[in-house]
Amino acid sequence: MDPIIIPDEETYPSDTADRVYPPEYEGHFSRLLIKREEILSRTASLAELLHNDYRGKRPVILCVLKGSTPFYINLLEALQDLTQGYYMEYIRVKSYDGLETTGRIKVEGAVPNLEGKDVIIVEDILDTGTTLSHLIPILEEQSKASSIEVCTLLTKRISEPQKVKAKYVGFSIPSKFVIGYGLDYNELYRDIRDVWIISQKGIDCDPKSLP
Ligand code: 5GP
Ligand code: MG
Repeated sequence: MDPIIIPDEETYPSDTADRVYPPEYEGHFSRLLIKREEILSRTASLAELLHNDYRGKRPVILCVLKGSTPFYINLLEALQDLTQGYYMEYIRVKSYDGLETTGRIKVEGAVPNLEGKDVIIVEDILDTGTTLSHLIPILEEQSKASSIEVCTLLTKRISEPQKVKAKYVGFSIPSKFVIGYGLDYNELYRDIRDVWIISQKGIDCDPKSLP
């Protein structure tokens, strides 16, 4: 199933009713991109695809911390509604420093043992694919998974080809830096219900100036 395309141009009129975020973030975002309601409905569709593909199996649903956490929780609940069995595992990976991908990734902590398991990596966003192009070989070699697929909430429309293809994709978004619904900028903005494009004020914000 193809991802839902979020167009390059504005789709939501700026409506004050949509501005549901901590008040100290006022002015930190430039465009509302995807509302939580749309994310939840898309997540339910992704869970159906996974259930069709993994029926009778117990895949390991692997959460890539921290950004994927809200998507992960809602995906697991949607799988529960479909009576799909699964195992839960977590991995912590760091690749971004501010707005720029560093091109290097670091697994922080232990790599889970996934020997003989069908693994579904749950990601928040696929950008260049650098992170996953490093992570997947680590999982193949160190954790001995028997199969690995990627389920990402977002994928960016970038000019160069992505290094990794995700089989399950929620939304295709413009090549802009987005925050909210678990996605951060220097650890801020994970605590927002919707996905937004960050503004210059948001980028310039000193976390120490916030409560
Ligand atoms: P990639 O390695 O595919 O270029 O980037 C993947 C990782 O970088 C994601 O898992 C995410 O942590 C981070 N990332 C990439 N694009 C964005 C973005 O627009 N916003 C945020 N908050 N993180 C991003
Ligand atoms: Mg991530």
